[in-house]
Amino acid sequence: MDDGATQQAPPMLWADLHIHTVASPCAEIEMLPSLIVGRAAALGLGCIAITDHNTTANIQAVARCASAYGIRVIPGMEVQTREEVHLLCLFDTIEQAFAWQNIVDAALPDMKNRDDVFGAQLVVDENDGFVRLIERMLLIAADISVDQTVLEVNRLGGIVIAAHIDRQAYSIITALGFIPPDMNLAALEVSRATTIAEAKKRYPFVQNWPLITNSDAHRLDEMCRSIPLEHEIASVRKLMFGKQGSYTL
Ligand SMILES: [Zn+2]
Ligand SMILES: [Zn+2]
Repeated sequence: MDDGATQQAPPMLWADLHIHTVASPCAEIEMLPSLIVGRAAALGLGCIAITDHNTTANIQAVARCASAYGIRVIPGMEVQTREEVHLLCLFDTIEQAFAWQNIVDAALPDMKNRDDVFGAQLVVDENDGFVRLIERMLLIAADISVDQTVLEVNRLGGIVIAAHIDRQAYSIITALGFIPPDMNLAALEVSRATTIAEAKKRYPFVQNWPLITNSDAHRLDEMCRSIPLEHEIASVRKLMFGKQGSYTL
C-alpha cells in the first residue's frame, strides 16, 4: 500500500551470542554477572548468550541477575573439541546445558588448571560473590569430535555455531580445511577482526552458510550489539540465521 510497509523494520531486539564470564580463565575479572548485565542493558541488548570455555558454571548467576532487566540469557558453552575447534553450543534451558556439561566433563582430561599461568576459573553468584574455583583445566580439548558435538547438542535440543571461523587458532576451517556441507551447524561466526564480506571473499565455500558476528567478549567494552532479531526468540532452534530467518545480513 505504501513504501513504508516494504521497508525493513528496525530490529526488535539486539543479541550478542558469545560472551565469557570469569569462569573462563582468559576473561577479565570484570566479567561478573552484574557488570555484564549492566553493560548489556546500556547497549540495549535484549538477549545474550553466556558461552564460557567448556563450562556452564556461571550461566544461572547471570540469568538471575538479568531477569530484573528483562534481558534473556541463553545458556551456552564454547566447547573445545578433539580437533581443537571452538564450537558455540546454545540451549533453551539450563537443564539441557547441564546435560551437555555432563558429556563434556566425561570427555575432559583430568588436569588441574594453573591459575598463575592461565588465570583463575571463578564461579560466582548473582551478586558477583565468590562461590568457588573450578580446579579442573578448562582451556583444553575435550575428547569429543566436532561430529559428536553437533549430534549430541542437537539431540539435547540445542544448536551449534562454528566460532570465529576466520581465526588461525581453534577454528573449524584451520582444523578441517573446509566445512562439511552436510554438517548441521546453525551458523558460522566470523570474528570482529574480519567483516562478513571479507570472510566470503577469503573462503568462497562459506557463501551458502548463514554468517554472523558476535563480540566474543572477554572484557566488558568488547560487548556490542551483534545480531539484530526481528522478534523474540521462542527457541534457539527457531533462531534462523540468514535469508529466510529472523536475522538478515
Ligand atoms: Zn574461541
Ligand atoms: Zn569465545
